[in-house]
Amino acid sequence: MAPRPPDGPVAAWELNLTGFTDAVPPKRTGQGAPARPGVYVIAAGDCVPHIGTSGNLQTRIRTLASLGNHRGSTEVLCAAHCTQQTPTVRWGETGTADARSIESAFKKLGEPPQPRGRFQDCVNGTDLRHALVESAGASSWEAGYIDALFEVGEQLHRIFAPRFHPLWDHVGWPPGPWVPPDAIPGGGQRPD
Ligand SMILES: [Zn+2]
Repeated sequence: MAPRPPDGPVAAWELNLTGFTDAVPPKRTGQGAPARPGVYVIAAGDCVPHIGTSGNLQTRIRTLASLGNHRGSTEVLCAAHCTQQTPTVRWGETGTADARSIESAFKKLGEPPQPRGRFQDCVNGTDLRHALVESAGASSWEAGYIDALFEVGEQLHRIFAPRFHPLWDHVGWPPGPWVPPDAIPGGGQRPD
């Protein structure tokens, strides 16, 4: 059964996700999402940084978890940074046309990241970008590279390369599957 969009003037982060799965962490492999069309909603703590549709939920969610060619990457990473919560994903399997109409009903309530009152600076990953650039030193090569990656908004896995690890140690690792297993000495949030 297709989930219905919420009725009335509810806040965008109070989406009616009847018919969606429970919230699970996004994973690079073994996500469990079907290779079929649907809608998915990402949350991190109280923030909803991304809502999307795909003809293949499995591939799309994996692409986000691996920070590949996925335009939601900057906002999801920033929400993880700002809330210090591992993002989760819920999806609803529907036909492609239904997926689009559900997405558009959700986004009519407010374009993610939501709620904007608290998470305005997650738009385009602004908060995280500034933290990284400041930590790198605004005129450094690393800062220029980080700015360019955030401008493009894809392939964000590149800022988790070893040369950037000191920056992450300084600004804090955004919890999620992008944290390399050896990145946090003595434990901490690790990917599944
Ligand atoms: Zn943020």
